[in-house]
Amino acid sequence: MSILINGIGVSSGIAIGEAYVYSREQKVVREYKIPVAQQEQEIRRFKAALAQAHEQLHEIKNKIAADTPPDILAFIDTHLLMLEDPTFDDGTIANIKKYSRNAEWALQLQSKRLVKIFNEMEDPYLRTRKDDVLHVVRRIQRCLADTPEHVPDDRELKGRIIIADDLTPADTLMLQHHKIAGFVTEFGGPLSHTAILSKNIGIPAIVGVHHARQLIKNGEMLIIDGEQGMVVNSPDKRSLKQYRALQKAETARKVLLYDLKNVPAVTLDGKAITLHGNIDRPEDIKTLRSFDDTGVGLYRTEMLFIEKNTNPDEDTQFKAYKRALFRLKGKPLTIRTVDLGADKETQETIDQGPMAHNPAMGLRAIRRCMKEPESFIPQLRAILRVAALGPVRMMIPMLTSIEELHQVLYLIERTKQRLHDQKIRFDANLQVGAMIEVPAAALSADAFAKQLDFLSIGTNDLIQYTLALDRIDDEVSYLYNPLNPAVLQLIQLTINAGIKARIPISLCGEMASNPQYTRLLLGMGLEYFSVQANVMLEIKNIINNSSLSKLRGQIKKILEHQSAHKTETLLNQLNQDESEKLKN
Ligand code: PEP
Ligand code: MG
Repeated sequence: MSILINGIGVSSGIAIGEAYVYSREQKVVREYKIPVAQQEQEIRRFKAALAQAHEQLHEIKNKIAADTPPDILAFIDTHLLMLEDPTFDDGTIANIKKYSRNAEWALQLQSKRLVKIFNEMEDPYLRTRKDDVLHVVRRIQRCLADTPEHVPDDRELKGRIIIADDLTPADTLMLQHHKIAGFVTEFGGPLSHTAILSKNIGIPAIVGVHHARQLIKNGEMLIIDGEQGMVVNSPDKRSLKQYRALQKAETARKVLLYDLKNVPAVTLDGKAITLHGNIDRPEDIKTLRSFDDTGVGLYRTEMLFIEKNTNPDEDTQFKAYKRALFRLKGKPLTIRTVDLGADKETQETIDQGPMAHNPAMGLRAIRRCMKEPESFIPQLRAILRVAALGPVRMMIPMLTSIEELHQVLYLIERTKQRLHDQKIRFDANLQVGAMIEVPAAALSADAFAKQLDFLSIGTNDLIQYTLALDRIDDEVSYLYNPLNPAVLQLIQLTINAGIKARIPISLCGEMASNPQYTRLLLGMGLEYFSVQANVMLEIKNIINNSSLSKLRGQIKKILEHQSAHKTETLLNQLNQDESEKLKN
């Protein structure tokens, strides 16, 4: 019998295929209290996990062929030695007793201490041994969680629809490599970075389908509709036929829009609008260029850090940025400095210990970079160097105050000076801009605009921070509304600040990629959109059929109402009227 399950559609498109229920290694270490009377039992549990990890490594060593290179054998021996070292054992047991906490958490705390010690070592070789600590810790954690290690491959994943509790951006990239057809997760909001990534790479996706792993079995036939947020489990012949027809119609509609490929974005009354794309990796430029020969308004560099699982060095970054720039063949590239933290972590930072209680409000993006300038400077150097080769701009995420901006600008100047002293080629006039994605920054947009070359509005975070709702929490996603009057006022303030200072203002949050808001933003004075590649032509179609002078008056009137509901009704009406005209 077929069942219908609802969730939140985050990446449109229809996928039809068999389910693959995906059990991901648990990456967030749980923390809970252990009554004093049960501490001994918890210590026994920990010791059993240690013994199991030990046994596993011995088993691997015994299975290894006699001609295995000595360095691989030495690697296993090192892990065995670490497991036998009292530093793991005693330290973790002491943590269980001292904090009355579970073994997983106590081990994580101990591993954080050990990683710190290795990190502070002078000898670069010894510093790399921290990776061994992390591998050993991960093995013990798996034994504690009792999860067998299984890494699925192409054969198992190709064409399948993944059902998971939650996926990190790194998981999503790995799954894309295996050519999955779509995914459904139990948790995660519409603005999580995983959701945005799925849209960017064009995989239909639905999040917030609670208990999906109980409702859907491995191998069951599924249809997912990423637009409607709907999962059809074990569809009958009629539904399959209907959805296959819908898939075909959607493809045909997109083919029609291809007529707009490489046509300039210009309104009916002659105003040229900049329409750029958002990318996560240089490879995404291929997809972008399949829709339009245009530039990039947001390159989220953190994916490079996530894929490499650590901070890539200056040369690795330089090569990646150069690859992106060359693929754009002379079109502009806006590189955003790394925005790690919140829902974007590398395995290294996950392994280093429990997350902040409120990571979106914590050490994220530029805050984290300025706390660790030695890790940030290689990125600044790489961007300054690549900017000498073509039209590159640098964009800083999550700034909150002018003082913070000054510190960043000072660090950029110092980095330039050092490159100059070292006689390394760089762009001394690199354009620097800020993302306006915190209400404090939007309210200070005038001051930011005076000191920067451009601003870009990040509505994903601006909405999260203005409306006090976690963008990755599906429980509060019903509150996520770009039409909230407070949000619209902050956007308007920022656009006005840019117009006054005569600097470009773009909008690169998901709001720009939603055709429902294109006319609204044009009417508010936005002249630069940075969007997901797959909606680029649809947005261009609206721009090229809009009269700016007419829209300004209509939108001004709509915005007089201080109610999101009223604004939505009037905007829907306007969109509907205009779409009807387009059809005729
Ligand atoms: C935003 O916040 O709108 C934005 C574009 O940045 P990110 O989604 O990467 O946080
Ligand atoms: Mg943001």
